[in-house]
Amino acid sequence: MPVQQARCPVQARAFARSFSNKSRRSVHVRASVAAETEKVDGRAVRRSLNATGRYVRQPTKDEKSQALMEEHGVGYSLSGLVAQMRENDMQWQQGEVTVKLAKAYGYCWGVERAVRMAYEARNANPDKKLYITNEIIHNPEVNQRLRELDIEIFEDDAEEGKDYARISEGDVVIFPAFGATVQEMQLFKDRGVKMVDTTCPWVAKVWNSVDQHSRKSYTSVIHGKYSHEETIATASFADTYIIVRDLAEAQMVVDYILQGGDREAFLKHFEKAVSSGFDPDRDLERVGLANQTTMLKGDTQEIGKMLERTMMAKYGPAELNNHFMLMDTICDATQERQDAMYEIIDDPSINMMLVVGGFNSSNTSHLQEIAEHKGLPSFWVDSAARIDVENNKLLHKTGWGELKETTNWLPEGPLTIAVTSGASTPDKAVEEVLDRVFRIKDPSFAGIAAKECKPMVVPDEDH
Ligand code: SF4
Repeated sequence: MPVQQARCPVQARAFARSFSNKSRRSVHVRASVAAETEKVDGRAVRRSLNATGRYVRQPTKDEKSQALMEEHGVGYSLSGLVAQMRENDMQWQQGEVTVKLAKAYGYCWGVERAVRMAYEARNANPDKKLYITNEIIHNPEVNQRLRELDIEIFEDDAEEGKDYARISEGDVVIFPAFGATVQEMQLFKDRGVKMVDTTCPWVAKVWNSVDQHSRKSYTSVIHGKYSHEETIATASFADTYIIVRDLAEAQMVVDYILQGGDREAFLKHFEKAVSSGFDPDRDLERVGLANQTTMLKGDTQEIGKMLERTMMAKYGPAELNNHFMLMDTICDATQERQDAMYEIIDDPSINMMLVVGGFNSSNTSHLQEIAEHKGLPSFWVDSAARIDVENNKLLHKTGWGELKETTNWLPEGPLTIAVTSGASTPDKAVEEVLDRVFRIKDPSFAGIAAKECKPMVVPDEDH
């Protein structure tokens, strides 16, 4: 059913409560890879949360929250341009501009679910203080909306970690879509707060595989970025781990396994990406592969093959299972968006690509990289605010992380633009970007009229 517009049921309230934390010692939980933190049994901690009676890990699908998400533009589009394109063979013609939307784009199931659970938490706890241990997802507008609902988001201080001292018994703490560390879960369990765990079940699946590695004494080789929140959380479930960012780092690991090498140089290179006391001569004898769910699937698979070949070469086929462990934990949503990207950039009618998504979003950066590798002009923006309509100018980011300003980026005459968006990007962000594109091409453009469309089909919880 399409949700109805509704008045906001969640009044942003003033910070009425004062927190008398002066008597409480500051508690800093480092949000970098927790090399020095005390090891705890991740699976046991997660299971123990259920028994507290203060732990929520499923959405309730309350209609007030859904309506408010629609009003705020942080859910799926139900009546705007994106919704209308869904019903129009993923295309739109506006004057000289033809827009083609990738078959898979935007909000993934896990992200929409996380945002919904945060809205539901606010609605269910109108008088409580609410916190999120990190950005709920990598999208500035969505995070800003949550702040406006008086939900405080903890920023990471690279040196000091996060200071959770002001969170008190009875408060509500939300874990974001990419999860929280085992140490954070333990802390909030002990603190007596209510926990709303929006961790995507696919991320939890990776945690289970890492947990299996630990129980069977394998070192987890995690394909991911050591500073990414999801990888930080995943690493916290591993006894022993090494994080490899790409194929080049994976090659360093397999070279060391086969040939040994300069131990100190190896440890220096991976100093921020290994567990405490990591010894490459001891800890690379048995390895299991895990992944940050937003990495390129092809790269993760290739790293798996590299490790498998290496262990086969070193120990022989009969011993492979004693030295290498692989579980399929690659998220479909990331892959579907990448596959749709490969498909749309092969469309010969496309003149340029527009990629919409947060500048710190890993999966969006991969979408941009795919277009760049193809040699297609591609512009990655995080919001419409990056586009200056009057001067036909935009500030965009490249796949290698450079912020660039480009003037006259939209040429005169007919134009076909392909559009996609990252898994943490609400449809509204795409609609606002396209609105500016249409205004540049036609100063008299007056906007797209809303039209009620079929709702998105969202998979059930057992996705
Ligand atoms: S990209 Fe995949 S793993 Fe990440 S939140 Fe979305 S559905 Fe979950």
